[in-house]
This record gives sequence, C-alpha cells and structure tokens, in this order.
Amino acid sequence: MKKNDSRIYDPAVECMDRDELHRIQLERLKETVKLVYDKVPMYRERMDAKGVKPEDIQTLEDLSKLPFTNKSDLRDQFPFGLLAADKSEIVRIQGSSGTTGKPIVSGYTENDVEVWTEMVARALAAAGGGKDDIVQVTYGYGLFTGGLGAHQGATRIGAMTVPMSSGNTQRQLMMMHDLGATMLCCTPSYAIFLGESLKELGYDLSEFQLKSGCFGAEPWTEEMRDKLEELFDINAYNIYGLTEIAGPGVSYECPAKDGMHICEDHVIAEIIDPETGEPLPYGTRGELVFTTITKTGMPMIRYRTHDICVLTEEPCSCGRTHVRMGRITGRTDDMLIIRGVNVFPSQIESALLRVSGVAPHYMLIVDRVNSTDTLEVQVELTDEMFSDKVADLERVRDEIKEQIKSVVGISATVKLVPPKSIQRSEGKAKRTIDKRGLTE
Ligand code: AMP
Ligand code: ZN
Repeated sequence: MKKNDSRIYDPAVECMDRDELHRIQLERLKETVKLVYDKVPMYRERMDAKGVKPEDIQTLEDLSKLPFTNKSDLRDQFPFGLLAADKSEIVRIQGSSGTTGKPIVSGYTENDVEVWTEMVARALAAAGGGKDDIVQVTYGYGLFTGGLGAHQGATRIGAMTVPMSSGNTQRQLMMMHDLGATMLCCTPSYAIFLGESLKELGYDLSEFQLKSGCFGAEPWTEEMRDKLEELFDINAYNIYGLTEIAGPGVSYECPAKDGMHICEDHVIAEIIDPETGEPLPYGTRGELVFTTITKTGMPMIRYRTHDICVLTEEPCSCGRTHVRMGRITGRTDDMLIIRGVNVFPSQIESALLRVSGVAPHYMLIVDRVNSTDTLEVQVELTDEMFSDKVADLERVRDEIKEQIKSVVGISATVKLVPPKSIQRSEGKAKRTIDKRGLTE
C-alpha cells in the first residue's frame, strides 16, 4: 500500500469542538424547520397534524418531534412538490432510480451544489487529494450523483479532473496509465474489475501512479478493500451518500479507515428502530435517518434512508470530531443495488406484468461474477404458455428482458421456469436471493 498523504480539508469545521458543533446544528435546524414549514405544504401539513410548530424546536432532542420523510414522499411529490425555493433558484436536478421506473429527483440551489461540493472535497482530501493530483472520475455522469459529485469535489481541491464516466474498461486503463492518474473514484465492484483487467491486459502496475481511491454508491466489504488495495497498490476509502440528501460525500473515511465521518455541520444523523421509529443511542444498529440543515432547494426532514448501520461518537485518531457511521450492513426495505443501480423487486414485477404468458411469480438471483453484479430473473410461465413452441418462448424471454431493461435500466438474464415451480410463501414472499455476501 502506498504512503498516505491524507489532509484535512477544513480543520476548523471537521475538527470542531462538539459543543460548538451542536450549537451550530441547533441554529441551522431551527432555520431549516422554519423554511420548510413556510414553503413546503407537505411538511406544514404533517407538522400541523402532529401539533408541532417551528418554535417547538428548542433543543437537538426536539428533532424527534418532527415527522419522517420517505422515498415514497419524493415519488408522490415528483418532481417539484418538495421544493422550498422558487424554481428559478434551482440550478441543478439530480436523480436516482425509484420504484416505478420514474426517477426520484432532487433540486439543488447554488448553495446546495456548494454544500455538496464541499462534502466531496473533504472526502477527497481525506484520501490524500490535493492540487497535484489527477483524479479519474469513473462514476457515471448524468442524473446519478456519482459522476458530477466527484467531479465537483475534485475540481474544488484543485486536482486535474478526468471526467471519464463509467464503462469502456480498456480506455479507462489506457487513460489511467497515460495520464498518470493518482486517484480513482468509482464503485468498488467496478474498481475491482478494472484492477483485474489491468493484469489481464498485460499492463505493468509499476507504470501506474495511482495512490488512492474513493469508492462508494453500493455496499462493499473489508475483503473487497484488501483486494482493491492489493490489486492497485493503493489506499481504498469508503464514501457514502444519497441523492435525497446531496450525493456522495455525506460521509467519508479518514486514514483510520474505521467508519465514515458524517458532515455534521450540514446534516444531523439519527439511528432509529425501523419498526417503532424510536431514536436509538449511539452504538446501536438501526436505520439511518438524515435531516439536512444547510440545504435550501429541497431540504429533507428526518429522511429515512432504509440503510442499516451503527453510529459512533468515539473520538477518532485522525482528529476529526464528526460522528462516524459503520459500513451499511443491510436495508430495511427490499432495495438491491445492482451495478450501482437501485433496483426494487416491485419494478421487476411491473416489468413482468407487461408481458403476456408469464405468471406473477418470480425470483431474483443476484450474484457477483468476475467482480460484476449479475441479475438472473426466474419467471414462471402460465400453463398455456408452457406448452407453446420454443420460438414463442424465446420471444417471451426477449420481451421480458426488454421490459426489465426499460423499467429498471439494467440488463438481466431471464430464465423461464415451469408453472408452479417457484416456491410459494405463506407470509411475505421472498423474491430475492443475494449471493454477494454484502449484508449481514
Ligand atoms: P443513490 O441515491 O442512487 O446514489 O443511492 C443511494 C444509496 O446507495 C444509499 O442509500 C445506500 O443504500 C447506497 N450507498 C451509497 N454509498 C454507499 C456506501 N459507501 N456503502 C454502502 N451503500 C452505499
Ligand atoms: Zn477519522
């Protein structure tokens, strides 16, 4: 592993005394609650229903009086219902895949882009990034926050930013080699694929300058970190984020590589019991909930991420004081992340329902082959279809593939299975078998 030249981007904020941090958080929380109460009908209605007024927020503990926000709220209010700013103040839209084929979108004011840029700049600096670096951005550019998020952060730290976007492995490696990229930003699974391809294509690792990488957007493991650090001879850092809150950089690892510091001057993190919604103390595993306290475009109050993790307030050896979150060890809903794309079984179901001759019984088998996620969709045929000609079956299979691609946005292998062969469950149907070993 190469020597670590990690820096702290903004020591005054990142290493701030916690009492001072709490004071700032409360001030900003009050402003945000007032803003959404005044400007966003959904928040005002929900707060009124709970009998909470902005003035009732007098301590950070009062946060628990506020209603939760869910992904379904973003869907219901699509596209602009949750904006707290005038549409003319919005300078960017980003999005992520939702449950209906329509993306979940978030609107950013200039201030919000700035906040987000700062978050990623902190993450890159923690991974050793600075003005002498060449940062290869291999996250996808587009509605997905990965590409543009990393791009903005890399530009902010003054690095030479290489906007490769995702895909085209040979070209990625050629550029990384020829430009002498020192940092890589992409999903951990694609990074492993790149590392393995590097060897296969006959490159000599000693001709590369890569020293570190910020990897995120999907769950990964310590074993994957070891593999990445070995494949590229780098320091591999975890970076976390979600579109609803900002994008990548909401939290990021420092050289201690022991949890990701959450940008607590911009968001307040809570862990709740996913069943009861009750806040849980630090150190307890539960569902992560975020409240944004500096966003002005589409602020989020108690947004339920459905990501499961643990928070710790223990001091960190790096000197940063912001709380750390552990790796995401699961989800409280059935969302899968396949090749970086959020996939809900219900989306696959709606794709299947568009094809005649198939029964609404299916099973998703997710695996990781050669570091790439694979999705096999097993679909039951109806009795009539089952007795049909092979040519007809092929047509059905192709149609299903096409529908999945158009609804979910990713390719899947489709396996047609005989009627009644998929196990029926008596309770909640189990629709997924995830063999990647990423969750608990
Ligand atoms: P999106 O808004 O499409 O970028 O998806 C956000 C979701 O991606 C989060 O809620 C997490 O489930 C997942 N995610 C992002 N970064 C990480 C990470 N470093 N580790 C595990 N999951 C992640
Ligand atoms: Zn630290």
